[in-house]
Amino acid sequence: MTDKPILAVSSCLLGQRVRYNGDAAEFRPLTRKWGKFLKLVPVCPEVGIGMGTPRPTIRLVKTSDGITIKDPKNDIDYTSEMSEFAQIKSDYLASIGISGFVFKKDSPSCGLERVKVYRENNPQATRDGRGLFSMIFTSLYPHIPVIEEGRLTDPKQAEHFLARVHFFHQWQEIGKEGWSAEKLMDFHNENKLFLVSREPSSETELGQFITTQFEQGEHPDTVALSYMTKAQEYLSVLTKDERIAHGMERVMGKFSDRLNSDEKQELVEVINHFREGSIPRYAPMVLLNHYMNRFNLNDRSLTRFTKPVPIELGLMSRI
Ligand code: SF4
Repeated sequence: MTDKPILAVSSCLLGQRVRYNGDAAEFRPLTRKWGKFLKLVPVCPEVGIGMGTPRPTIRLVKTSDGITIKDPKNDIDYTSEMSEFAQIKSDYLASIGISGFVFKKDSPSCGLERVKVYRENNPQATRDGRGLFSMIFTSLYPHIPVIEEGRLTDPKQAEHFLARVHFFHQWQEIGKEGWSAEKLMDFHNENKLFLVSREPSSETELGQFITTQFEQGEHPDTVALSYMTKAQEYLSVLTKDERIAHGMERVMGKFSDRLNSDEKQELVEVINHFREGSIPRYAPMVLLNHYMNRFNLNDRSLTRFTKPVPIELGLMSRI
């Protein structure tokens, strides 16, 4: 990979004072730590449609025509401006090659889930909406990983999301000059262990999907895009420690015949301690990487599993 992955982020999370009240909502792990390994691109849909800062609050309102986004105080409807802006901005972000999007939770423009929706003439809201901008972005580009910053406060969620971003970035880099059946199969084979450690059924089903699509004569670029959309769907659910531990055992199986009995026992114990939750993922991964170096086994199909995100992010020692 040549460049850092580009991550679009709700501007207020990057410390920009663009919220309705003139405040920011900086998400410091992203701006102070993870951002060193990513290129961060700010996006504020409400400023984007010409609303100033500070500004009246807007909200999602369900009408007989569907979901609208309105300033209830001044009775102004921003639905068409926001819809048009979302389509143009989403296309632009995809064209510059973003590898993910971090959205501000609870916002009627940016929130991904459980956003308040009001009914006309009813002051009570239900928490079952999605921000209008984020809804349009995710409908147009379902293969690009997205998350709200609230989930990123959990290190397991953060590691899993950033692993999805790096997996996607790798796909973007390989596909820059266009896809062929061979390139896509190589990409899948390199990521088999990574995929199976996140969602066990994904490895086989994605492999079968590629084969079927090519048998039906689909264009390689079309197959690659559908492949990534399906892969990100599998990856949208957080993995479990047991699956990661199983992946570790598969890596160990590549060199266990070259370990002496003490080394073998130590590695099995360390993996089991991680599986039981008594030590972090970092410990067995360090040992696995150590043996992979010793036995010259640094092929990408293994390192995609043992180093799915840069180690310097500090996440492996917290999960
Ligand atoms: S939540 Fe979205 S629309 Fe609201 S201030 Fe932040 S970036 Fe702008």
